[in-house]
Amino acid sequence: MLMNLALGLSLIPLPCQLSARDALLKHYEFSLPRMGTIFRIELYAPDDATASKAADAAFARAEELEQIMSDYREDSELMRLAREGTSAPFPVSDELYDVLAKSIRISELSHGAFDVTVGPLVELWRNTRTTGRLPDASELARARALVDYRNLELDAAHRTVFLKRAGMKLDLGAIGKGYAADQMLALLQSRGIRQAMVVAGGEVALGAPPPGKAGWKVAIDTPDTSTGNPPCAILLRDAAVSTSGNSRQFVEVAGKRYSHIIDPSTGLGLEGAASTTVIARNSTTADALATALSVMPVADGIRLAESLAGVAGYMVRQAGNGWKRYVSRGFPKGCPGGQ
Ligand code: ADP
Ligand code: MG
Repeated sequence: MLMNLALGLSLIPLPCQLSARDALLKHYEFSLPRMGTIFRIELYAPDDATASKAADAAFARAEELEQIMSDYREDSELMRLAREGTSAPFPVSDELYDVLAKSIRISELSHGAFDVTVGPLVELWRNTRTTGRLPDASELARARALVDYRNLELDAAHRTVFLKRAGMKLDLGAIGKGYAADQMLALLQSRGIRQAMVVAGGEVALGAPPPGKAGWKVAIDTPDTSTGNPPCAILLRDAAVSTSGNSRQFVEVAGKRYSHIIDPSTGLGLEGAASTTVIARNSTTADALATALSVMPVADGIRLAESLAGVAGYMVRQAGNGWKRYVSRGFPKGCPGGQ
């Protein structure tokens, strides 16, 4: 299936073959801060007003979602759920229900490597960032006992969520930006703008390709790039790509780096530098799977990617003083090992 995502160069139509409609389209680019990072939209539209109205609406949608999913805003729906959802099932918005249902699916697929109930461990990681000290064994044990997606109960008929243990905390940091990118792209498409790309931090959601092109060119950020070794790039359309890296956000304790991606089985941030890139049909899945595959042993991650339609993975891991690349079947050409 992914083979047709990586279209050969021979399929790129020449500019003279552009349809009359496409020939009139202009390229636009917009960016704004959202969800603690920069969100960017590139789109093709016939005129300035159409482009900026659609982009405004997409950014407004991201703002609505941030108000639902933020764990930094005390009045977000997610924070109210954490406060009230442990005593009784708590009615939630369609969006929160949807993103939690999708989170549970990825938790099941990854056997808990991705776990949306990781909140108590994220809190300990943030404390370490402030104090420079790792949690002690009892703090770690207490927090780990609260992390288990199977204690999150969704009721589809009543649209409620119940947290079965007092003290549980949800964290949408590994899926929320991807979800927002999907919603923003869908909004642009509902306004007739099909040729669009939404970039939400490291999450990329792609619609139809730019006029006359076979796909959007997406650079893949890996820890082994340098001035002499620029990032590789792939061509993609109607798909999403996400890269989770250990190298950008980390705390350092006694010379060791602990990434903001937490292994729920140890309770600690992943050690060392690495990157994991996932392609999927939508950005919600790509975002969550990139985190899941960061935590999972490489072979398990490759197997999981190859078992899912439309999914491909690309991992770079430290090997001695160098780097090793692992590529799943169906990862497009453009990066070493791609097809
Ligand atoms: P980025 O935000 O850099 O794209 P990720 O998508 O991997 O990186 O998300 C990392 C964030 O997800 C962390 O900051 C934390 O809030 C949350 N998180 C960390 N570990 C996990 C995990 N194992 N499962 C689910 N969420 C996690
Ligand atoms: Mg993620």
